[in-house]
Amino acid sequence: MEVKVIKEACIGCGACASIAPDFFEMNDEGIAITTGNYENLSEDSKKEVMDGKDSCPTDAIVAE
Ligand code: SF4
Repeated sequence: MEVKVIKEACIGCGACASIAPDFFEMNDEGIAITTGNYENLSEDSKKEVMDGKDSCPTDAIVAE
């Protein structure tokens, strides 16, 4: 799975890091960054990533 945050689109709301803390966190500038390993994810982990993506109010997360 390829996941990235389009930092120009992130408004720093923190939703993704709250809902999917294994895969997103906030950096020192208050922008979300990807963390962790996105290879060979379990179905539960994929759901966590997608729930984090879907929580984003600005569609700043790309996951495919
Ligand atoms: S949910 Fe979207 S806008 Fe909010 S911190 Fe995450 S990437 Fe940024």
